[in-house]
Parts: sequence; C-alpha cells; structure tokens
Amino acid sequence: MSSDLDHFEVFPWSSNFETGHKAIDDQHKILANLLNVLASTLVGVDTSETNLAFDKLAEYANEHFTEEESIWFEYFGEDPWFVSHQMSHASFLPKVMELKKLEGKTTLTDVVEQTVKFLIRWLAFHIIDNDKRMAITVDAIQKGSSINEAKTIADRQMSGSMRTLIETVLQMYDGMSSRTLDLMRERNARIKAEQELKSANTKLQELAVTDQLTGLYNRRYLDSAFEREVRRALRENTAITYLLIDIDYFKSFNDNYGHVEGDNALKQVGAMLNEVCRRPGDLAFRVGGEEFGVLVSSNSDEDVGLFGEKIRASIEGLKIPHMYSEINKYVTVSVGAVFKRPSIEDSLAEFATIADKRLYIAKSQGRNCVVSTEQT
Ligand code: GH3
Ligand code: MG
Ligand code: MG
Repeated sequence: MSSDLDHFEVFPWSSNFETGHKAIDDQHKILANLLNVLASTLVGVDTSETNLAFDKLAEYANEHFTEEESIWFEYFGEDPWFVSHQMSHASFLPKVMELKKLEGKTTLTDVVEQTVKFLIRWLAFHIIDNDKRMAITVDAIQKGSSINEAKTIADRQMSGSMRTLIETVLQMYDGMSSRTLDLMRERNARIKAEQELKSANTKLQELAVTDQLTGLYNRRYLDSAFEREVRRALRENTAITYLLIDIDYFKSFNDNYGHVEGDNALKQVGAMLNEVCRRPGDLAFRVGGEEFGVLVSSNSDEDVGLFGEKIRASIEGLKIPHMYSEINKYVTVSVGAVFKRPSIEDSLAEFATIADKRLYIAKSQGRNCVVSTEQT
C-alpha cells in the first residue's frame, strides 16, 4: 500500500495521450511527471521544494513549446492551425504566472492546488485534442497529402476525440479511485492507531496514579490531590477532612494466613473503602502496606467522626476471618481522623502528623475505633 502512495500521481499517464510523434510524446511525459512532482510537494512543509518544482515545470513547458512549435512550423508554416496552437501555448505561462501571483493573498498550498488543477485540465485537453490533431496532419503530409487534405484527414480522425477524452478521463479516474481508496484505508489505519495510542496513554496515566494491588489511588497521587484540596479550601473558606486507616494486627494475619491471603484481605478492604467513598469529591488511597488514607471534599458537611465510624463499621462488616487478632474474630481497622481549615502553609505532612497521632491513640485505646478529636 505505501509503495503505491509513494507514487501518487495527479496526472496518471494514459496511452491516449500519445500523439504518435515520439519526441513530442517523450516531452509530454516529462511534463506530466513534473506536474506530479509539483503536486507531491503539496503535502510537504518545505515551500522551497514547491517553488523549485513550480519553476522547473514552467521552464520545461517553455522549452517544450518552443521545440514543439518548431516541429509544427516545419509542416504548417503560418497556417491558422499553427497560429492558434502557438496562441494556446502563449496563454499557458501567463495563466500559470497569474495563478502564482495569488501567492501572498492566499497560502502557497492553495496556489499550487489551483495551479495543479488548471494544469491537469490544460495538459489533458491540449494533448488529446490540439497536439493529436497536429500530429495526424503532419503524418498525412509526410505520406504525401497537401496541408489542406491532411487537415481534413485529421478532422475526420479526430471526430471521435470526445470519446477518447471520456475514455482517458475514465482511465485517470480509475487510477485515482484506487489511490483514494488506499488513502482512505491509510487514514482509517492512522485513526485506529491514534485511538489506540490515546487509550494506551490514558491507561498509562491511570497506572501512574493507581495502586496495583487494590486499584485505589496511590500515595503519589495523594500529594497532588491534597494540594488541590488545600487550594480549593482556601478559596472557598472550607475545611479538609483526612482520615488515616490502619488494619489491626495485620502482621499476625500475614504470618498465620500467608502473604497471598494478606493481599486478598488488602484488596477487600480497598474495595470497601472505594465503596464508602462513592460521593464525588471523596478519594480513597493506599498510602502504605496496610495503611489507607481518605480525603473528603471540603464542602461535605458530614461529621468527620461519623464518617470515620462508617468506615470502621464497614470493614468489620466485611467479616474477613482473623483468628489471630487479639480484639475481634474479624479483620478490623483503627482510624485517626482530622477535620481542619487549612492555612496557606499547611501541607499534607501537617494533616498526616495529626492523623497519625490520633491513629496511635486509637490503637492504644484498644483498636477497632475512631479518634477524631484532640485527646488530652
Ligand atoms: P497494628 O494493629 O498495631 O497496626 O499491628 P500490625 O501488625 O497491623 O502492624 P505492623 O506495622 O507491625 O505490621 C504491618 C504488616 O502488614 C506487616 C506486613 O506483614 C503486612 N503488610 C504490609 N504490606 C503488605 C502487603 O503489601 N501485602 C501483604 N500481604 N502484607 C503486607
Ligand atoms: Mg501499620
Ligand atoms: Mg496495622
């Protein structure tokens, strides 16, 4: 597919373009090729390449016209056919230059696109009708006809030129259609690749903020989420709620049930925290081994102690058996909670220190409980 696209042509050559005069046909092929090169520079970003291709085409067209005219002149002299052919040539370059002058008023790409369209039409019509008619006349003269007899022969033969033109256009159209299909396929493949890249990127971003075991947000994300919450709280003059949750006697859970069961318990606790933090603005994190954090949107008016209690009860409610816990048959958690209006210099560390202190108190008060106020 790509090799086809490398040779994308706006002017595909057709045998109908052959006049039968070898030197002229060769030059026409070069012209068509220069036109294809010019069009191919359209997709690039280098305008100097386009300008160069433009100048080459104009220069070669000029040379070709001169040579072609000298061939026709040999047979036609000042015949009206020759004069009108010469005029057709003479109108070509000024038209191209006129199009090129649009440069500056519109983009160079627009100019070249308009010029390419003009050139395709001009070249196709000029070769298929004028040049062929001239070539047939020359051939008849060479075979002994007078110029007027030869012109009549050419007119007769060219009466089917409309049909030839249609055939040629259809051939060109065929070539373009399959190339257009290739382009559409390429475009679709590109769109698909872009979508895949986008979702891979989203996945990567998610991975960067997600804890792999529990699927909760990770510690790293807590930092940026906290900063955002502080800014919001300062703006809206509200408070931040932060809860630190630690599984009780988890070391003995692991030691007795094994690491795999330990991981399973962590997953279940994580899923439950996610469940409890369903309100928009509530975020649950795994901050360390068997430690979790919950950040509550500052505009929530739920009492921090009650929310901590809801979390504690929901984990106990999971009823994950823990025969080795000294306080319960099931896995339980202790919670240290903070509800505070942040000051400008407040960081996560401030909140974490208070939460940690309260968590420690909860542990020392027997675990499976919530401490949300300053204890004296
Ligand atoms: P406390 O009630 O005072 O919190 O006691 P504890 O045993 O829970 O606390 P400690 O900090 O002594 O032990 C935490 C244990 O958590 C250590 C380790 O066995 C377990 N742990 C930490 N991270 C992971 C993990 O990713 N997977 C598993 N399976 N266990 C973990
Ligand atoms: Mg711990
Ligand atoms: Mg623990």
